[in-house]
Amino acid sequence: CGIVGYIGRQDAKDILLHGLEMLEYRGYDSAGIYVMDDKNVGHLFKEKGRIAALREKVDHNVPAKTGIGHTRWATHGVPSIENAHPHQSTSGRFSIVHNGVIENYKAVRDAFLTDSMLHSDTDTEIIVQLIAWYAEEEGLDTIDAFKKAIVALKGSYALALIDNEKPDVIFAAKNKSPLLLGTGDGFNVICSDAMAMIKETNQFIELMDGEIATLTVDDIKIETLAGDVIIRTPYTALLDL
Ligand code: GLU
Repeated sequence: CGIVGYIGRQDAKDILLHGLEMLEYRGYDSAGIYVMDDKNVGHLFKEKGRIAALREKVDHNVPAKTGIGHTRWATHGVPSIENAHPHQSTSGRFSIVHNGVIENYKAVRDAFLTDSMLHSDTDTEIIVQLIAWYAEEEGLDTIDAFKKAIVALKGSYALALIDNEKPDVIFAAKNKSPLLLGTGDGFNVICSDAMAMIKETNQFIELMDGEIATLTVDDIKIETLAGDVIIRTPYTALLDL
């Protein structure tokens, strides 16, 4: 029920784990992180229970330059390691975290996917498999596959996506669930609530429904589904540490 993302020059693991601890009030039946190391190899860690349990599961020797994380409050599928986020496409190329509920996940599943493609009982996995379908079967560029999947989805979502083939980027989108983009010197972050990243920055940009954000170490680009670029100035979050 809370998501975080980090791309920058510091190690992502502790920033993500700390951010998730700050979001535990939103729900905590399981949690996970996906991080990309300095050789562009992805590492997935998931655990049932609280963030403290995930922290023990994480290999702290993995250098992590980019990552996404999730603390879950189950709506579709029991709390378990399999149903914990991040979820991955069958190919392993795409990893996603999702906060919210996809109302038409059954229709999307039946139209595009087969049971043997699915590894969890969540509505979330449908999103990442659909993105992979558009990218791998239709050959769309990542952002176009992401946009096309979003157009097909109904419901509430805050999403952060990593594509192993674009290891220096995190993609984000939202509908009805909150999502903030935090900006700093040599890094950018994503979070459901500014509290998760206030240790890193107090400069935040609110992402709006129907917009896609592309984050790199030095830049945040926001565009609409139609491709119009949005310029939005950060605001200063006033939170006590
Ligand atoms: N609907 C998703 C699930 O059950 C996300 C729940 C959440 O927001 O934590 O996995």
